[in-house]
Amino acid sequence: MTGKAKPKKHTAKEIAAKIDAATTNRGGGKDGLADRKGVDKGGHAKLACPICKATAPDSKSMRIHHDARHPKLPYEEEKLINLHASGTSEEPKPKPGVRGSLKKS
Ligand SMILES: [Zn+2]
Repeated sequence: MTGKAKPKKHTAKEIAAKIDAATTNRGGGKDGLADRKGVDKGGHAKLACPICKATAPDSKSMRIHHDARHPKLPYEEEKLINLHASGTSEEPKPKPGVRGSLKKS
């Protein structure tokens, strides 16, 4: 009998940290920051700057971008390009096929 239990604490903690990191949108270094700012990826971007066409996920981020990049210009939220609105529908709709693909029989 060794009387020594193998420590599992460390691994469990690591997994929990990984899950937390994976489910919480923070960190990620440069890529994570760019992603949240919506600078070069279109994925989360909802708004585009009417001046330089940089994208941002929301008006708060766009405001930050505007203040940083175009401090001499007035910030006009109504002039922002709404990328989600560029299409046929006026109202936000759930993605077509999402529900159908789940309940297809
Ligand atoms: Zn801009």
